[in-house]
Amino acid sequence: MSNESLHPETLAISSGRPAHTAGEGINLPISLNSTFVAGGPINYGRTGNETWQPLEDAISALEEATSTLVFSSGMAAITAAFSLLPHGAPIVASDQGYSGTMSLLKRYHTEGRLEVRFVDITDTKEVISQLQGAAFLWVESPTNPGLGVAEVSVIIGEAKKRNMGVGFDNTFATPLNQKPLTFGADIVMHSVTKYLAGHSDVILGSLSMKDPALHARLQDARVSYGSIAGPFESWLALRGIRTFPLRFAKAQESAAALAKKLASHKAVTNVRYPGFGAMVSFEITGDAAAAERVCDGASLVTNATSLGGVESTWERRRRWPLESERIPENLIRLSVGCEHLDDLWADIDTALTKA
Ligand SMILES: *Cc1c(COP(=O)(O)O)cnc(C)c1O
Repeated sequence: MSNESLHPETLAISSGRPAHTAGEGINLPISLNSTFVAGGPINYGRTGNETWQPLEDAISALEEATSTLVFSSGMAAITAAFSLLPHGAPIVASDQGYSGTMSLLKRYHTEGRLEVRFVDITDTKEVISQLQGAAFLWVESPTNPGLGVAEVSVIIGEAKKRNMGVGFDNTFATPLNQKPLTFGADIVMHSVTKYLAGHSDVILGSLSMKDPALHARLQDARVSYGSIAGPFESWLALRGIRTFPLRFAKAQESAAALAKKLASHKAVTNVRYPGFGAMVSFEITGDAAAAERVCDGASLVTNATSLGGVESTWERRRRWPLESERIPENLIRLSVGCEHLDDLWADIDTALTKA
């Protein structure tokens, strides 16, 4: 059966499996080797590892990519992607987004490594007006943590008309909601740490693409920087991907329901939910201290950063000095997990009411 005819739930389970051979394990083993007998396809553990390939194949299948490279973290993947741009290249990027990406781009801009034109990625006119003469467009949509949504197919199309490269951070939407390569993006990036791995136990990143020449350049970057994925983390991430579509469907359904319930809660002033995904951001009636009390006041939902695990977490994003000043001080970002909706709502309602 060809991959194209399979659904994501099936691809997540069947990709990256060894052939059906009598007596062989149905999972590939973890390859803990720094070096390999000369003459084979892999010589050294920084250039290759048998545990990467099945994980890369599974992400490729989900993103409709030709190939994927896994990295030691999402930020390592992003850094490898930007490393391909020539010194001083003009690029267009969202002014709201993952704080690690924002601080990296600001540093590149200050150092003259890149000339970054920061835009409101949800303002299509503004994005298009900045594309002229730029080499690269970096998109994150929905944005973290404001949950703004870009007109993805339009802005990618406009960038491609101008022969620009396009990179896309698809961590929040996941390939279950959008596949940027099918809109013409060149590179799709994931913090595999989040929904794909899904159990808050690994840090990993990935880049997926269709162009073999681009793959070769990014693979070179991975080898040179040594930003490689650990075999154990890679194995755990693939194990996580087996249930990713199930986990994500459940979390997304609960997130939509919680967004509605939050919107009619008297302690909540504003709810941001783009209509898909499992992240909900909301502002409360009180100040920063009250928002901290809410985050500390739940027993199921953990006050913790990061997202995409089976367990629900939330945090006041402005507790991070790197977070954009445009994000309100009393904004709480909730990562909805897979607990029962009624239990989650009871917990959230209690935390909101007693704060
Ligand atoms: C977490 C995150 C990253 C960074 O990934 P790491 O695995 O933590 O390095 C990048 N983009 C988004 C949207 C994220 O949520």
